[in-house]
Amino acid sequence: MKIICVGLNYPRHADEIGMRPVDAEPTIFLKPDTALLRNNDPFYIPDWAERFDYEAELVFRISRLGRHIDERFAHRYYDAVGLGIDFTARDLQERLVKEGRPWETCKAFDYSAAISRFIPLAELPPVADLRFDLAINGEVRQRGVASQMIFSIDKIIAYVSQFFSLRMGDLIFTGTPTGVGPVREGDRLTATLEGQTMLDFEIK
Ligand code: MG
Repeated sequence: MKIICVGLNYPRHADEIGMRPVDAEPTIFLKPDTALLRNNDPFYIPDWAERFDYEAELVFRISRLGRHIDERFAHRYYDAVGLGIDFTARDLQERLVKEGRPWETCKAFDYSAAISRFIPLAELPPVADLRFDLAINGEVRQRGVASQMIFSIDKIIAYVSQFFSLRMGDLIFTGTPTGVGPVREGDRLTATLEGQTMLDFEIK
């Protein structure tokens, strides 16, 4: 399976990290399956960068094989949603961007993609209305609603499936709203989707 991620997909988040989104096309990057962090296992802060940021995101699970998918039919290709944390080595990212180099090392490292369980879409409100939040040590830092996304999940699927075949079980991280920040040893991250606790784990 693969993890497809969208960067800079909410207004104001690009500003807070000093980057400029491209209006015409989503910003796409991948993480390998070795990036997965499941079952609310703790995130161990690596020692090779100074600042690791949390980014809470809606994550959609692909339910059938597809390529060159038209936006109108994209909704047929996912069936469940969960929450993820796109952990990012921010100081390394800033350096890579400045040097015009790819993002992989700052974004796709081991355990950089925390994911929750998934809820069937049939059990939830319409996709555009999905609300989620992330709290650090009980204090809410990020709130998002899917309708705020610059590129909807259907637009993302239409775009990425031009380049990558989508397979059952692939995951799409859809970008993070404003409010990102660094994690510290001892922090507890909790995230809810439509009021249901989805993530609850520690930083070590
Ligand atoms: Mg992200």
